[in-house]
Amino acid sequence: MYKGIGASAGIGIGKVLILKEAELNYTRTTITDKEAEKKRLADAIEVFVEKTMALAERMKVTAGEAESEILLGHVMMVQDPAISEQIEQKIDDDSINAEAAVEEACDFFAMIFSMAEDELTQQRASDLGDIKTRLIKILMGVEEVDISAAPAETIFVAEDLTPSMTAGFVPENIEGVLTEIGGKTSHSAIICRSMEIPACLSIPEITTIVKNGDVVVMDGSTGEVYINPEESVIEEFKVKREKFLAEKALLEKFRGQPSQSADGKVVELVCNIGGPDEAAGVLERDGEGVGLFRTEFLFMDSDAIPSEDSQFEAYKTVAETLEGKPVIIRTLDIGGDKALPYLGLPTEENPFLGFRAVRFCLKRIEDIYRPQLRALLRASAYGKIRIMVPLVTCVDELRAVKEIIAEIKAELDEKGIAYDKDIKVGVMMETAAASLIADILAAEADFFSIGTNDLTGYTMAADRGNPDVAYLYSTYNPAVLRSIRNIISAANEAGIMAGMCGEAAADPLMIPLLLAFGLDEFSVSATSVLQARATMSLWTMEEAKELADKAMALKTEAEVKALLEANAR
Ligand code: PEP
Ligand code: MG
Repeated sequence: MYKGIGASAGIGIGKVLILKEAELNYTRTTITDKEAEKKRLADAIEVFVEKTMALAERMKVTAGEAESEILLGHVMMVQDPAISEQIEQKIDDDSINAEAAVEEACDFFAMIFSMAEDELTQQRASDLGDIKTRLIKILMGVEEVDISAAPAETIFVAEDLTPSMTAGFVPENIEGVLTEIGGKTSHSAIICRSMEIPACLSIPEITTIVKNGDVVVMDGSTGEVYINPEESVIEEFKVKREKFLAEKALLEKFRGQPSQSADGKVVELVCNIGGPDEAAGVLERDGEGVGLFRTEFLFMDSDAIPSEDSQFEAYKTVAETLEGKPVIIRTLDIGGDKALPYLGLPTEENPFLGFRAVRFCLKRIEDIYRPQLRALLRASAYGKIRIMVPLVTCVDELRAVKEIIAEIKAELDEKGIAYDKDIKVGVMMETAAASLIADILAAEADFFSIGTNDLTGYTMAADRGNPDVAYLYSTYNPAVLRSIRNIISAANEAGIMAGMCGEAAADPLMIPLLLAFGLDEFSVSATSVLQARATMSLWTMEEAKELADKAMALKTEAEVKALLEANAR
């Protein structure tokens, strides 16, 4: 048995087809007619753009809008003057053929991107690898393999899946995907999940371990892979597959249904997104709105502070796509583990206790915060936008933000620019301080959203990235549970919405407790919507409260976890 990262759930049983990039054996040559070489490059880029747009169209149908955007991103990268001019300059300065110039320029940018700390920019390095290979193929006149012609019951095995490969996928014919690299958040994983193809990633040497035609059974949840297994193992996986598909069909029953407990207590079930390209996916997965739009990705995805207008467009797109459903947009949450290299901020000794999120924004009002808040207010004319302030620790921060918002409102009124005059301003409850003054904050905030990812870390004083203290990082700790209950009670008492956008909102073990505490809104990843709705439907409020009372009487994390596991539905 081989074990990879289970990156897209489901059971695959099929025959191996290895996807190998063709060897690109071009010769690096010295050229004399630079203009002719640049013309060859321009023609190749034109063909690339044409082909990629066609692939993106196809991808929209097979994987959805968000995924086709990845390919449109390739078109933008190829057309980005920084990249195309660098290739041309190599032809000019080094008198090399276009193939060599493409390779050197793409490798150069890929190296820079791969050194970035954030995953999104690192991902661009692999995008550039894909762009490079395809551009060189076009220059060499090498035909691309027709992946869409793969027979039924294929298990694709590749070093990594490039977006242009997956664009050719016919999901009905694909039983699974195995790769040598990639994690849960890589493009391969995201695309496989949206196409509902089981995937096990990061299995070293898998392209050399298997050969074409080998029989493979795999579990995309656990990452288990068996190559040419005995008949009994195949039978076992067939049973597992039936069970998986039956459960999935059961979840489909919850599409279009209200999100409620077994006895009809209705809550809101919304989604977390990282950019406008994920907004359509919320509706596709039956989310009832957006509970957290992490705007830092707009900033991380750019090499300078995004302008007010470009932010306005992004927020407006999300508001319009959600067609009047609530959209909570969190203002810039930078710092801590999320760096923005172009701001050139000094390294801190304790970044998680440092200059981040609202603390940073309130020190950079004119160049960063006011433009963002102005963009948000302008976009609020196009849907139901709510503004959320991250990492609040004292009421002064909330007041300061509200004051800037009031100033912008006055300015917009003066200029006759439309916005939602009743726009709600809420607080992200993710620090121990915020939790302890939840009553004070509730009197001045329009809503709360609990960020359990940070709240757990700050409450337990445990960095989740540090394996030595990871055992402390658990929402089931009595300290964290008390904190969550306190925040929800304060919101309930003040009559404002209590939401949660941390990972705990989708945890089937936590859901009954959160219902019992009185949580009004659950914000989860789009792929968890139906699962969360199904879990809620299995508990009456009385049963949930009974379980919560028992859990809150326990003294250790292990006891709480054991109780919740024993009662899991
Ligand atoms: C959280 O802290 O729970 C949260 C949702 O925010 P982030 O994960 O972006 O810090
Ligand atoms: Mg947070």
